[in-house]
Amino acid sequence: MEAKKPNIILINADDLGYGDLGCYGSAVNDTPHIDRMAAEGLRFTDFYSAAPICSSSRGALMTGCYPRRIGFGMFDGNHVLFPGQRVGLNPNEITIAKLLKSAGYATMHIGKWHCGDQPEFLPTRHGFDSYYGLPFSNDMGRQCNRRENMLPPLPLLLDESVIEQQPDQAALTSRYTEQAVRFIRENKNGPFFLYLAHMHVHLPHYAPERFIKASRNGPFGAAVACMDWSCGVILRELAEQGLDEDTLVIFTSDNGARTTEGGSNAPLAGGKATTQEGGFRVPFIMRRPGHVPAGVCNGLVAAMDVYPTLANMAGAKIPTDRTIDGADFSPLLRGQPSGRDTFFYYMNDALCAVRNGKWKLAALRGNWTKCEPVNELYDLETDIGETDNVYEKHPEAVAALTALLEKCRADLGDSAAGKTGNDIRPSGCVDNPTTLTQYDPTHPYYMAIYDLPDAG
Ligand code: MG
Repeated sequence: MEAKKPNIILINADDLGYGDLGCYGSAVNDTPHIDRMAAEGLRFTDFYSAAPICSSSRGALMTGCYPRRIGFGMFDGNHVLFPGQRVGLNPNEITIAKLLKSAGYATMHIGKWHCGDQPEFLPTRHGFDSYYGLPFSNDMGRQCNRRENMLPPLPLLLDESVIEQQPDQAALTSRYTEQAVRFIRENKNGPFFLYLAHMHVHLPHYAPERFIKASRNGPFGAAVACMDWSCGVILRELAEQGLDEDTLVIFTSDNGARTTEGGSNAPLAGGKATTQEGGFRVPFIMRRPGHVPAGVCNGLVAAMDVYPTLANMAGAKIPTDRTIDGADFSPLLRGQPSGRDTFFYYMNDALCAVRNGKWKLAALRGNWTKCEPVNELYDLETDIGETDNVYEKHPEAVAALTALLEKCRADLGDSAAGKTGNDIRPSGCVDNPTTLTQYDPTHPYYMAIYDLPDAG
């Protein structure tokens, strides 16, 4: 008999670092619900987001492809997508939501999309039956740091319509969670796929008063606790509906933390928008009692691997007419090796580094503003913090990893080397793009302007 298709809840935090959860060693953030999820499930130590920044990472998670493969390395010169851009996730891409929908799943996306805000690019055009959330980052509305060059009001979307502008961000996670509970109840006979992409912990940090009062780590700790609370509500709802064993819950993050605002990637070096481990390596926890063993997994897994893994669990057919970079990692759940031994680190369109097994070779060290040539080799098994450059000591490893970089450059391209790549697909592009909202001073916005200046 065919195994029952599991319900799937994919929870994606924003800018949450490797060291920001109790179960990953945080001593300052309170995450009892996520810690319980990790204790009852599998916690991964070597999971990589596809990029150290939002849009690229999210496009890869949805398509199982490296960002460059789908034209998501850069966005008309921007590091991430901005309101009203003409580019977005190509409607020809087959997202995990489209795959699961074709396999009979009810699908919903709640929260941050950030794969394009033109109608052609919205979640509802990419396999989600419904959508409720912010189509991009929470610092992309009317905010007091942008008096000179103000963005249009921050839109809250229901499916494809703006239902509120400049929503109260402190209340938004509660509203997301309410939508999640409603979706679970309406689809409790399953199977369902819920992609819940939190606003937290991206700047600015607006959290309910009770979390701010209780936080031991300022506004950042409050944002983490608010997200943890939401996870607790969802886990409780699954238990009450008798869906614990029928539902795979995944918790992860789109990229590493900014360390200047209370976030931590400890013990990793670097953070958001860097090519060091702290930019890419993020928490990843899976829980499904009776199906996913409890413990810690040290296998190398990348965000692109989520796509084929979920597709196979759901009995959905993975596309064969195009390159998919993901490898099904479910053998790791049975203590066997997964199909991945290599991971490439891109900063936007520049190929910066490669990991193979325990070795990481960096040819460029990158961040928001520049990528500088380096010759660095690290043994990540003994030197997770990238402190001891052993490039000169292991020429054979350097040669082997350099060959991997060359192969990747030919395949995916590398802006730093002036290479386009042999197997890349274009992002979507529309004529005459418009923003979802326009500022109207006579409109009774809930909140005229966000008073926190932080962005990033
Ligand atoms: Mg992010």
